Amino acid sequence: MTTPQNHSFTTQIVHADRLGGAEQGAIHKPIHTSVQYGYEKVEDLIAVFQGTAKGGFNYARQGTPTTAALEAKITQMERGYGSIVFSTGMAGICAVFLTLLKAGDHLVASQFVFGNTNSVFGTLADLGIEVTTVDVTDAANVAAALRPNTRMVFVETIANPGTQIPDLEGIGALCQQRGVLYVVDNTVASPYLFRAATVGAGLVVNSLTKSIGGQGDALGGAITDTGLYDWSGYPNIFAAYRKGDAKGWGLQQLRKKGLRDMGGTLSSHAAHQLALGAETLSLRMDRTSATALALAQWLEEHPAVSRVLYPMLPSHPQHAFARKHLKAGSWLLSFELRNPDQCLAVCNRLQLPIKATGLADTRTLIIPVAHTIFWEAGPAVRATMGIADSMIRLSVGLEEVEDLLADFEQALAGA
Ligand SMILES: *Cc1c(COP(=O)(O)O)cnc(C)c1O
Repeated sequence: MTTPQNHSFTTQIVHADRLGGAEQGAIHKPIHTSVQYGYEKVEDLIAVFQGTAKGGFNYARQGTPTTAALEAKITQMERGYGSIVFSTGMAGICAVFLTLLKAGDHLVASQFVFGNTNSVFGTLADLGIEVTTVDVTDAANVAAALRPNTRMVFVETIANPGTQIPDLEGIGALCQQRGVLYVVDNTVASPYLFRAATVGAGLVVNSLTKSIGGQGDALGGAITDTGLYDWSGYPNIFAAYRKGDAKGWGLQQLRKKGLRDMGGTLSSHAAHQLALGAETLSLRMDRTSATALALAQWLEEHPAVSRVLYPMLPSHPQHAFARKHLKAGSWLLSFELRNPDQCLAVCNRLQLPIKATGLADTRTLIIPVAHTIFWEAGPAVRATMGIADSMIRLSVGLEEVEDLLADFEQALAGA
């Protein structure tokens, strides 16, 4: 796909289909539903199988022209080397862990991660992959956890639900020094607010379900190779994928072992919906970030609220990093009440925020964290993740800020 790299973020995305080999003049990439891809000459089919033809499709489990167009857009947004899309963010994350790590390897991960990612760490331990979770807001904790068999460090840019931001630059420098693969889940920030390549990430994870899709109507995930990691030094690349430029080895293994074999394939229909969402990413991120900041500031002044967690508040522990590196604070905001007994009543009194799990829909979503998404984790894990019993998580939507403020005013009165 050839699109002008000198155009700015959104201009590139909305012109990508038109400029990238349009079919019949279609200015949106068509939804390709064919599972099989046939060729006039069997030599051409062989070239696709053996990877000697550039591009080319054979069986839709490994991708279609529609999913490839979405992959090109994600790569463009992250300004990376290449991307692979998956049926969900979790399918992408599992592909990274299960195809790039093996028994006897060691993974250092953030103790502040998405609950289901944390749950996968338990599965990895059962498979003989050691996992150490640390407080990644200080790179010294990561340094202390590294061992000779550490292959990978995994962090989230803005952790859900506590909004902790790792020492992203410090960890990047450490990983580069030690030849360790640095994987950054950039779901909450999105490539519009922050590019993980700027802190040295080798692989970037995006749950497309969230910021990039942004309509709450399609699941998807993506892994982007930034091109910064030297795969020639990675011990777990199979001989079959140590072919051609070493830059492509990681993605080859992820596509064959992680997508083809494990089968977490994104449908062309979902890819089309997610690609439409990507076109409005910058507009939605600007809008929801501005509303979230206004709400965070208002909540911080309210006597019933004991703590507000939002990166763009000066009270946030990593505020200095956020101000310097993030374009805005994103839609994720958590707060705690002075009186924990009021937690459920306040949620119930709110009329606009929808009591639901999930993130980055066009509507504001609200959830009491300890009672729901972190219930299974138990009190000990919640304590290490900084999750109080009264913590309420908000995913701020596109509603007008005045309407949300008025609703919070009535809901918090008397709390
Ligand atoms: C939602 C989420 C995921 C998983 O994405 P799905 O598309 O729901 O599978 C991973 N990481 C983070 C930070 C998330 O918020």
